[in-house]
Amino acid sequence: MAKVNRGPAPKRLNQALSTRAVHAGEDRRKFADSLTTPIIQTSTFTFKDSHDIEQYTRHGKGHYEYGRYGNPTTTIAEQRLADLEGAEDCVVFSSGMSAITTTILSLVQSGDHIVITDDSYKKTLEFCRSYLKQFGIDCTIVGFGDYDALEKAIRPSTRFIFSESPTNPYLNIFDLEKICKIAQRHGVLTLIDSTFATPVNQRPLQFGMDLVLHSCTKYLAGHNDILAGAVLGRAELIDRIRNLHKSMGGTIDPHCCYLLLRGLKTFPLRVARQNETALAVARHLEGHPRIKRVYYPFLESHPHYKVATAQMAGGGGVVTFVTKGNLAGAKRFLDALQLCYIGPSLGGVETLITHPAMVSYYDYPRKERYALGITDTLFRLAVGVEDAEDIIADLERGLAVL
Ligand SMILES: *Cc1c(COP(=O)(O)O)cnc(C)c1O
Repeated sequence: MAKVNRGPAPKRLNQALSTRAVHAGEDRRKFADSLTTPIIQTSTFTFKDSHDIEQYTRHGKGHYEYGRYGNPTTTIAEQRLADLEGAEDCVVFSSGMSAITTTILSLVQSGDHIVITDDSYKKTLEFCRSYLKQFGIDCTIVGFGDYDALEKAIRPSTRFIFSESPTNPYLNIFDLEKICKIAQRHGVLTLIDSTFATPVNQRPLQFGMDLVLHSCTKYLAGHNDILAGAVLGRAELIDRIRNLHKSMGGTIDPHCCYLLLRGLKTFPLRVARQNETALAVARHLEGHPRIKRVYYPFLESHPHYKVATAQMAGGGGVVTFVTKGNLAGAKRFLDALQLCYIGPSLGGVETLITHPAMVSYYDYPRKERYALGITDTLFRLAVGVEDAEDIIADLERGLAVL
């Protein structure tokens, strides 16, 4: 068997992203001459003899020990993701939230302070605001796009700035260059959740971000059938996170990891298509007599259009829009859809639509919900890989009964 050990990734051949998405991170010769990546479905690994043990304990490399500490199938996914993001190293987790929480915990201790932007992923915010407090870690939440407030929030005890771009549901875009400059002035780390962008549309490490996080559940795996997460960056930081990961135990199952690798092969194709379809849908909806407002970063009307087009290669597959009318109309719109599935998540092959007011914010008082911009007629559409015309026809079906 060709050894699939942790170690330098196979030589990069200066190939395009779509080629590397298929091949990066694995040897051409695989177990039993398999073309596809072997799924090493084992919880533990064995040693041939005492010499084998000593080789492993002395040099660390050349052997796996136990499933929570690493697995060959997972190593391939980590090397492929690192290649695609242009990072030195990567750790893959059982979910995006496992990646986010483990990463954060590996960087702070009691008495530290962190800064996070207010429209970060709901569970990330909740973790920082509520749980970190229990361990004596203070957190300042700053308004998105308020770079002055962001800089002013930094204290001597600040460890990092956590941001996200684009964000949910308004697809706000963070100026990566600006945030990196602020962080460098104060010697703090920068973390970014780049789930909505993927390495096809945005390369935060090139702007100087220290760590990039992904929910691989979304575009990277892309088929709405697994949960997975990843963190990427410099080897020295990733080592620290990997060590804590071994204790926290958000380990991805090898078969699940195979599905991630399988999804990664087509992810540049899918995202290119989703970029095109989402833009076509956004253009169609903008100016529609039954639509009040459309949010898409590559529409000239988006408040961050300039930054978006300067730092991203595409606007992504999510389009947010507000229909005219009221909640009753919004329900009629949803009920008339025949192609788009009603459900959370994004980035997969099936088009999904969510109504945040009725789902993620159902338990918020109306006034509070409105203060957050989650109105009764707000929808988030996450386009899949179906034909744009069919998606538009389905939306028209809904708009007709609005
Ligand atoms: C989905 C998502 C997460 C959480 O990832 P899971 O894989 O669901 O744990 C984090 N951040 C963003 C931006 C997401 O969309």
